[in-house]
Amino acid sequence: MLKLRKRSSRTHTFHMTAQIIDGKALAAEVRAEVAQRTATLKASGITPGLAVILVGDNPASQVYVRNKVKACTDCGMHSVLEQYDASMSEEDLLARVQSLNADPSIHGILVQLPLPAHINAQKVIEAISPAKDVDGFHVASAGALMTGLPGFLPCTPYGCMKMLEHINYPLKGKHAVVIGRSNIVGKPMAMMLLAQDATVTICHSRTPDLKAHTLQADVIVAAVGRRNLVTADMVKPGAAVLDVGMNRNDAGKLCGDVDFEGVKEVAGYITPVPGGVGPMTIAMLLANTLQAATNR
Ligand code: NAD
Repeated sequence: MLKLRKRSSRTHTFHMTAQIIDGKALAAEVRAEVAQRTATLKASGITPGLAVILVGDNPASQVYVRNKVKACTDCGMHSVLEQYDASMSEEDLLARVQSLNADPSIHGILVQLPLPAHINAQKVIEAISPAKDVDGFHVASAGALMTGLPGFLPCTPYGCMKMLEHINYPLKGKHAVVIGRSNIVGKPMAMMLLAQDATVTICHSRTPDLKAHTLQADVIVAAVGRRNLVTADMVKPGAAVLDVGMNRNDAGKLCGDVDFEGVKEVAGYITPVPGGVGPMTIAMLLANTLQAATNR
């Protein structure tokens, strides 16, 4: 009798684990919508086109560019992959970008980073026409985001926003803590959250007490590249936790910045790695490419 009662009281204090935001499923939805709108645009005589440039033979970059090109063709877009030797000069790369800027069959240009050390990456990005800057890394795109003007949003933070939108997360007045301040993830992420009326804190490598900040957060976005950076004791119960990080664990398996197993017991929402932010990044690249073609 006593045992039974104990059991039933346990069910009353039963704790719900976080709702997992399925980035793979949501990305498939976005891609299906892009494919549909691409078909409509094609019927009116415009085929959205993406050019991807890879310089050198970084194995991770090779996988990324192949996935990006395949995603484009899968949804009916035109896509070209230009691969060059690591010894390519900056001048030659700039000339390729200029020629793609002038190519009417290309609406989006993506130069895969990192570039070899002898090439000034920022200079190459600034050479891309802002109208074709589907990665959203050009200063014109960054400036537009900063000032609230229309422009291309960097795909990874854009994908994070799409995930929050998908769960109808009410950002207005909520406290968001972004961990990481890079130009491609952390900073644009903070700007997008701010544009949705969140109160935003940006933490980084010189933040002395990360936990003091994350414990105050309704939304945490981890974009560092260090596994188990965010643990359960750092998360306020019910918080939404978005994991951008891409790391390998000791077994060589892909993992994020968040201790998923621990944090999912505390958070209200959580994105897994793999199958979270990663697939969303490619989906938003397709959305940006479609947008670039539509703008024409
Ligand atoms: P980055 O190296 O440019 O920036 C990392 C940031 O983390 C820096 O701003 C740094 O200040 C901060 N940082 C470092 N150590 C810290 C610490 N101990 N505490 C708090 N902050 C710390 O990296 P990035 O390009 O912004 O990428 C971040 C992570 O996201 C990487 O793992 C990367 O692979 C991943 N990423 C994933 C996708 C995706 O599609 N899923 C896309 C881009 C990047």
